[in-house]
Amino acid sequence: MEYLTLNNGVNMPILGFGTFMLSGETCTNSVANAIQAGYRMIDTAEAYGNEKEVGDGIKKSGIERKDLFIVTKVNFKSYEHTKETVMKSLENLRTDYIDLMLLHWPFANYYAAWRGLEELYADGKIKAIDVSNFEPDQLLDLIAYNKIVPAVNQIETNLYCQRTDERIWLDKKEVSHMAYAPLGQGNRNDMFHEPAVNALSDKYGKTPAQILLRFLTQKKIAVIPRSTQPEHIKENINIFDFSLTDEEMTTLSALDKKTALIGNPETPELVEFSLTW
Ligand code: NAD
Repeated sequence: MEYLTLNNGVNMPILGFGTFMLSGETCTNSVANAIQAGYRMIDTAEAYGNEKEVGDGIKKSGIERKDLFIVTKVNFKSYEHTKETVMKSLENLRTDYIDLMLLHWPFANYYAAWRGLEELYADGKIKAIDVSNFEPDQLLDLIAYNKIVPAVNQIETNLYCQRTDERIWLDKKEVSHMAYAPLGQGNRNDMFHEPAVNALSDKYGKTPAQILLRFLTQKKIAVIPRSTQPEHIKENINIFDFSLTDEEMTTLSALDKKTALIGNPETPELVEFSLTW
């Protein structure tokens, strides 16, 4: 495993396991399988409704809490609601601290929610406070008017949505970059058939998914691929025994289409989603 050091000194694994859409026993077993395969970072969210099953998977894995890095997200309505929701997440995950707690989306009063997280951080309930789906202007504004700079911004990032412009601001403000949908939500954007990716698959004897995850991690972007298939779970973590050359990194970087699958505020599905909150 490789690690990123966050702006508050916390070390975070660069690769973790995503749990969006996982529920019930499938969620529990997938989380347990992932931990047994070597994953130490697990990403969930209050809005996924599966924190309890993630907690069950952690327990089933037999790995101690101190050796894991738990990421969850709060879907907030107010300052009070933020704090109550985080306390519920702790209970559901059966832990007394969360490693990374993200504001899930920049909806509602995220300044009030951020103050709640700052207090929980001071109390030691959260080891790093973070955001997700924040556009650069929202992130810069939050940084300018609050005490704590977010440690991470989790945003959709993959070969066709590289976030190069956003990355300039993340680096400038020392906010680490975490990619969701690193596999394009199961190749919804057809990256697996990109000829340059396929040529690298042949060269290194790796699958397109492994090339795509290696590309992101070499850019110091944390990734959290999801799978319920034991062979894919193993495949996705088996990316640290090869490196892409500088030239190959440049070739893949040039393939950016700057097109998001779900992280774009102009997409109707996102507007619809925000209205359900
Ligand atoms: P993903 O890019 O991880 O793709 C998951 C899909 O890829 C699954 O359908 C899986 O079957 C398939 N897959 C996995 N490994 C494969 C392999 N080796 N070969 C072929 N197919 C493979 O998409 P995601 O789950 O949407 O994103 C990852 C995680 O990011 C989520 O699970 C969740 O934890 C997080 N997330 C966060 C937000 C947010 O708003 N912050 C939004 C979406 C997802």
